[in-house]
Amino acid sequence: MGVLEDVVMNAKSAATTVGKHAERLVDISKLRVNAAELNGEIAKKYEALGRLVYDSVKADARPEGLVDEYVEAIDVLCKKLDEVNEKINILRNKTACPICGEQNAEGAIFCSHCGVKLKYNDAAAEPDAAPETAQSEEQVQ
Ligand SMILES: [Zn+2]
Repeated sequence: MGVLEDVVMNAKSAATTVGKHAERLVDISKLRVNAAELNGEIAKKYEALGRLVYDSVKADARPEGLVDEYVEAIDVLCKKLDEVNEKINILRNKTACPICGEQNAEGAIFCSHCGVKLKYNDAAAEPDAAPETAQSEEQVQ
């Protein structure tokens, strides 16, 4: 593909790319709200668990069954929180294709949707270090 064609296609797809970028930011902020809510729920469970243990000690009772329930509930919430945080990381590490706006994994050489070669500022800034990696990865393709 020629440079001129590249430029024209870049201009045509700019709106789509901006749209996808905004979409990604909305997704990330939604996930952050979700993560904050989960953190709040986890904090409440810890507090309730602490109160339960405190009350039990005061009353000289054995709360084992209830403690297990709280521990399980906290584990479930922590797992959900991990999943949300992982989604946030995946979204943050994606590289938007300049042509079609597809979100590609960080470090991807070609767009997984349209196949265009993705350009990186890092490669341009360090021309001495980049070519070796780029070449060896192209041979794999
Ligand atoms: Zn693409």
